[in-house]
Amino acid sequence: MNCLFCKIIAGEIPSAIVYQDEDCVAIRDINPQAPTHVLVMPRRHFCCLTTAVAEDPALVGRLMQACVKVAQLEGLTQDGYRVVTNIGENGAQTVKHLHLHVLGGTKMSEKMS
Ligand code: AMP
Ligand code: ZN
Repeated sequence: MNCLFCKIIAGEIPSAIVYQDEDCVAIRDINPQAPTHVLVMPRRHFCCLTTAVAEDPALVGRLMQACVKVAQLEGLTQDGYRVVTNIGENGAQTVKHLHLHVLGGTKMSEKMS
């Protein structure tokens, strides 16, 4: 499988890792949309949230915990932050390996589109 994030997780492509545990790796987004923009991705390949919930719902809970951990490490919890995952064509997902965006460091737009 030719998956960019699987290659990043395997260390074949360099990335700026901010957190990792047995389930996931969290890296800085190469094209940040906020002062802090981290991607939390499971080590196991799932195309998106839909598949991950079907195949390993407990893992999804742990990924959410990892997002909070990243927010704490990045000093985002006081002022707040956003966690989002894009799914498929209409969700404008560009990398087909599940990842959660952790965004913070500024007031996010109230628009969700
Ligand atoms: P999405 O549009 O939800 O699939 O998000 C994919 C994200 O991956 C985008 O925010 C990209 O900027 C980011 N991205 C793409 N390539 C890399 C890379 N090599 N290292 C870090 N982030 C990347
Ligand atoms: Zn992958």
